[in-house]
Amino acid sequence: MPFCNDTRYFTQEEDPAYELVLAPGAQAPYSGIYRCEGCGSSAISTREHPLPPQNHHVHGALQGHIRWRLIARTTHP
Ligand SMILES: [Zn+2]
Repeated sequence: MPFCNDTRYFTQEEDPAYELVLAPGAQAPYSGIYRCEGCGSSAISTREHPLPPQNHHVHGALQGHIRWRLIARTTHP
């Protein structure tokens, strides 16, 4: 889970992009923080650039492949 100092600087919103589960190396729909569905680790990606690759971090056998999901986006795309 990523960390923040003050949640007042975050705004909850609905957007279909938060429902997408993306493969390693897929194009990021927004600049922001992405969470790995397998292990919960997080990484930053920039809009229209590739998400971190499969070798970004190591999973145990039960965690499966890295799958990225957007959890916070920047206000400027
Ligand atoms: Zn992971």
